[in-house]
Amino acid sequence: MSANVPIIRLIDRFGRLHTSVRLSVTDRCNIRCFYCMPAVDAEFVEKSRLLSFEEIARLASLLVNRCGVRDIRLTGGEPLVRRQLDRLIAMLSRIEGLADLSLTTNGILLGEQAWGLRQAGLKRINISLDTLDEKVFQRISRRSGLEKTIAGIDRAIECGFESIKLNALAIRGITEQEVGRLVEFALQRQVTIRFIEFMPLDADRAWRTDNVLDGDSLLQMIESRFGKVVPIPRDDPAQPAEEFLVGEGRVGIIRSVTVPFCDQCNRLRITADGSIRNCLFAKSETPLRDLMRSGANDDELIAKIQQAIAEKKAAHGIDQTGFEPPERPMYAIGG
Ligand code: SAM
Ligand code: SF4
Repeated sequence: MSANVPIIRLIDRFGRLHTSVRLSVTDRCNIRCFYCMPAVDAEFVEKSRLLSFEEIARLASLLVNRCGVRDIRLTGGEPLVRRQLDRLIAMLSRIEGLADLSLTTNGILLGEQAWGLRQAGLKRINISLDTLDEKVFQRISRRSGLEKTIAGIDRAIECGFESIKLNALAIRGITEQEVGRLVEFALQRQVTIRFIEFMPLDADRAWRTDNVLDGDSLLQMIESRFGKVVPIPRDDPAQPAEEFLVGEGRVGIIRSVTVPFCDQCNRLRITADGSIRNCLFAKSETPLRDLMRSGANDDELIAKIQQAIAEKKAAHGIDQTGFEPPERPMYAIGG
């Protein structure tokens, strides 16, 4: 980038500066978690309507070089089902000024792909793991796969990523039995585990407040098994996880429902079909794909991105009466 081009900072009406992007590379997935996808008849974007790697790389480099974005997390659907993802990682790793490139995965294909991703330049990885019981895994994901997920986690550890974190959804009626053994599993492997409160983003629209295992209850369960936890001061206020020292390890709690962190939000999202979503719970999107395909120049794309930021609401409003979940469920947004 030329040194003369000024950075157009993505600041919204509430003064929030956006430096972090969640980029979905596919809405397809190899399992069907009930908190995200429907059990059957999931609808997917036609392949020709997905952003190509070249289109993703163009948007990413605009966001970094012209708009001051610092970190990009690839997600989905399941990002590892997108063919040749390592090629995209290599393309994005070459963007100067991108401070952090990371990925969130269910881990099932990591055993085969971890080394290729590491070699392509991926440094940080988050792996979802909600249970250590195959029957519970099947109940949650409506597929088999726990053994492969664990093998994927262990392979990632062998490959020497700079950071590996585990993510577990906190669901009342399921997670109570898992908390202790999941923390134990993470402590043994010296990786951080974070518990994320279940949000109303399931395709089945079955979410109820009662289904959320809240952060306070989680902390009580952790303390009853591992003793008093010690809060670790947050070094980045936009980081949604509160972290605690538990024994020799770290455990995070993300209270997305009970203590929303919208006032610190620095994120925007790009769906696999190339629309900007300024919030997980946004009711509208700003499509970029067709604009790019019809020859829009960089300034025109940046103007659209700015428009999306300007339309961002103050908060997700899950706790407000009359809250309606967004039309697109999690897998179609990019978690
Ligand atoms: N397939 C990958 C995975 O599961 O890790 C990446 C995409 S997934 C949508 C990203 C993250 O969103 C996962 O950690 C998943 O647990 C989380 N997630 C999915 N549905 C959720 C919901 N309703 N509430 C909170 N988190 C959710
Ligand atoms: Fe697939 Fe991830 Fe959604 Fe589970 S949470 S169905 S693994 S996209």
